[in-house]
Amino acid sequence: MTPDLSIVVPLYNEASGLPFFHRKLSDHARRVAEARAMRIEIVYVDDGSRDATASVAADLQPHGIDVQVVALSRNFGKEAALMAGLDHARGDALLFMDGDGQHPPEMMETFVSLWKDEGYDVAYAVKADRTDEPPARRLFVRMFYRLLNFGAATRIPEDAADFRLLSPRAAAALRRLPERNRFFKGLSSWIGFRQKAVPYRPAAREHGSSSWSFLRLLGLSMEGLTSFSPAPLRMAGMVGALLAGAAFLYGSWIVLERLIWGIPLPGYPSVVVGLMVIGGVQLLVIGIMGEYIARILSEIKARPVYFVADHAVRHAEPVSEKS
Ligand code: UDP
Ligand code: MG
Repeated sequence: MTPDLSIVVPLYNEASGLPFFHRKLSDHARRVAEARAMRIEIVYVDDGSRDATASVAADLQPHGIDVQVVALSRNFGKEAALMAGLDHARGDALLFMDGDGQHPPEMMETFVSLWKDEGYDVAYAVKADRTDEPPARRLFVRMFYRLLNFGAATRIPEDAADFRLLSPRAAAALRRLPERNRFFKGLSSWIGFRQKAVPYRPAAREHGSSSWSFLRLLGLSMEGLTSFSPAPLRMAGMVGALLAGAAFLYGSWIVLERLIWGIPLPGYPSVVVGLMVIGGVQLLVIGIMGEYIARILSEIKARPVYFVADHAVRHAEPVSEKS
C-alpha cells in the first residue's frame, strides 16, 4: 500500500545525532499517522557522508513507520539529496526536513493540519528571527533575497526554511519540473497553489556541525539566482545604460567646452578613468552572463543529478503483531 505522506530527510555527516533524531521523528510521525489514519514513511538520503551515517542509517529500525534508506554514491549536495528523496518517495504528499534536529518534528502536526483541515498546498517554516546567526551571514542572506526577488514574478519568501509540507497536487507539480539544477525553496513557491508560512525557531544543532561554508552559501545563492531570476542580467543592462548616459553627457560637455568656449582639455586622466570603468563593468557583466551560460551548459549536458549506491526499504511490522 502506498503511503499518504513521505518525509524526506537529507543526511550529511549526521551519524552522531541520527538514532535520537530517528526515534523522535518516528514517534511524531506515528502519532500523526494514528490520529489522521494516514500511512507515513520516512525516506533518509545519505548524501555521501564521510562518517558512519550510512551504516547508522542502515541499522535504523522502523518504529511503526516504514523507513527507506537511499545512499548516494558520493556527496552531491543538499538539493541533489532532496531530489533523490523526492524520486524515491512513494507518498502522495511530501514533507522535507533537515536531519540535524534543527527542524522541530512537533511542527509536523501543524503542517498536516494546515494541509488536511485548512486545505493549504504548501506549508513552510519561516525563521522567526535570525539573531542566532553571525551578522555577516544575516547581511548576506538579506542581500541575496533582495536580489532574488528584484523584479521577480513570484516572490520567494525571505527566511523560509527547507522545512515544508507539500500536498499531493503541489508534490505532483514539483515532480513535473524538469530542471536539474534545483533550488527547492524557490521551486516550491514558484508552483503556486495555496501557500502558508509558519514561523518557527530552529533548535540549536545538538550534534555535528553545519556544513555550510561561506563559499557553499555563495554557490547556492548563485544557483538560486540564476535559475530563478533574470535580475542580475537586467541590472547589468541598467548599469550599462547609466554609464552610456553619463558618457554621452560628459562627451557633450567636452564638445561644448572645446568648440564654444575654447577651453583646452587635459585628456589623459579622464581617458584612463573612462577605460577602467568601462573595462570593469564589461568584465562584471561577462561574469554574470557566464553564470547563466554555466547553468545552461549543465542543463544541456543532462547528467543525472545523483547516483544511488544502496537502497533499502524497511517495512514497519503490522501493528497487530506487536502486541
Ligand atoms: N546536507 C546534505 N548534503 C550536504 C550538506 C547538508 O544532505 O552536502 C543536509 C544535512 O545533513 C542537513 C541539511 O542538509 O540535514 C541541512 O544542512 P546544515 O544543517 O548543514 O545546514 P544549515 O542548517 O546550517 O542551513
Ligand atoms: Mg542545520
